[in-house]
Amino acid sequence: MCGIFGIYAHPSASQITHLGLYSLQHRGQESAGIVSIDENGLARAVKKMGLVSEGLSGTEVDTLNGAMAIGHTRYSTAGSSTLENAQPVLARFKGGHIALAHNGNIINATEMRRELEAQGSIFTSTMDSEVLVHRLARSPSDRPEDKLADALQGVEGAYSLLVVIGDTLLAARDPRGWRPLVIGRLGESTVIASETCALDIVGATYVREVAPGEIVAVSNGGALRSVMALPSAALKRCVFEYVYFSRPDSTIFGGSVDRARRALGRQLARECPAPTADFVFSVPDSSNSAALGFAEESQLPLELALIRNHYIGRTFLQPTQAGRDAKVKVKYNAVREVLNGKRVVMVDDSIVRGTTTRGLVSMVRAAGASEVHMRISSPPITGPCYYGIDTPSREELIAANLDTTQIAAHLGVDSLGYLSLEGMLSAVPDGPDGFCHACFSGDYPTPPPTDPEKLRFGCGC
Ligand code: AMP
Repeated sequence: MCGIFGIYAHPSASQITHLGLYSLQHRGQESAGIVSIDENGLARAVKKMGLVSEGLSGTEVDTLNGAMAIGHTRYSTAGSSTLENAQPVLARFKGGHIALAHNGNIINATEMRRELEAQGSIFTSTMDSEVLVHRLARSPSDRPEDKLADALQGVEGAYSLLVVIGDTLLAARDPRGWRPLVIGRLGESTVIASETCALDIVGATYVREVAPGEIVAVSNGGALRSVMALPSAALKRCVFEYVYFSRPDSTIFGGSVDRARRALGRQLARECPAPTADFVFSVPDSSNSAALGFAEESQLPLELALIRNHYIGRTFLQPTQAGRDAKVKVKYNAVREVLNGKRVVMVDDSIVRGTTTRGLVSMVRAAGASEVHMRISSPPITGPCYYGIDTPSREELIAANLDTTQIAAHLGVDSLGYLSLEGMLSAVPDGPDGFCHACFSGDYPTPPPTDPEKLRFGCGC
């Protein structure tokens, strides 16, 4: 997964982009980068491994001149974590430069890459996104938005994109609208970002979403042009963005993530109540809002029973199982004074491998909890995501291999309740239709990629 941010017509474009990337850090912690374009058409890039705060220093960002910039935070699976795969991609072609930042997974990238390679193209990374750069360079159209429309014909899968061609900033969202992308205004400048929390940090006001299947272009004084040149498809916004991925202070897909998560928590309390419990607590931070909703609906107090160390990254980022196990303790600790002798409801947004959850349950028990009732504000994850969320292969997904009773035993909880698929889809804003829930339901909107493992290795984000 990735976060993208772009700004057009601002004298401090790269500094504003730098700020925007800070608030998109949750979407990718592996690498960060900014490309700026100055008034002479000179494009410069700074790309670094690691967090925005670690990699991108203010001094370096200050070398990126110009009134237009795009930035990227990247999160990918193990194997492709290298600087050559950091974005934005910057390339030069006969028409000048192309810079591109991508969030999502293109599922037919392998086929398109083979085709391009057969015609002599050379690739410098293993990213699916690089295919788009080649396709852009080959387009015979004149207007940048038409070039992008040409490049995206036949591209399958999820993409929210920021592209710079010449002095034009372009944004595009795939016709199914898998990943979020929003437009904001900052004075006379146009800002485009994955989530509205990135508009807030720079003081921009929210205008609207980039519509599914839409290409927007801004150049020459800043009036926004819109092109609907991509084949239409049924809306498939990623429901997991509401469940887990986006920040609760964001509005995505036209709905508040906070409100969505509270509603998921309330629905969970209705479907899987825990009437004997003394209180509810969350696994911070991603399930805080869902736990609030659960507590409100069940009229139980909400306690702070787990404390999270904010100075380390997500446990999921550890490539080996041993690393993940150790990191649970580094990341969380239980509050004995709160838990001792209590019957508790532990709310989390999802269980993937079960590793973190199992470690947390044993921590909560060691702190004296007498009953642990686990409640999950989404259904069991039974399949991988091919569209940008880093879910592991089926073998590693606990719910693909065990039923709920077996998972409860494995986790060591007294009871385990998952939200139903229908409950989840009815709770999120603008549901129940128009969402992709393939990882929960197996209902994949596209045929699976021909080479899923290659895709995991080669994905843009
Ligand atoms: P585990 O018990 O190891 O399956 O980890 C569950 C935790 O991982 C939950 O607290 C989720 O919030 C979190 N989680 C879910 N999906 C992802 C993801 N794609 N990347 C990182 N963390 C995730």
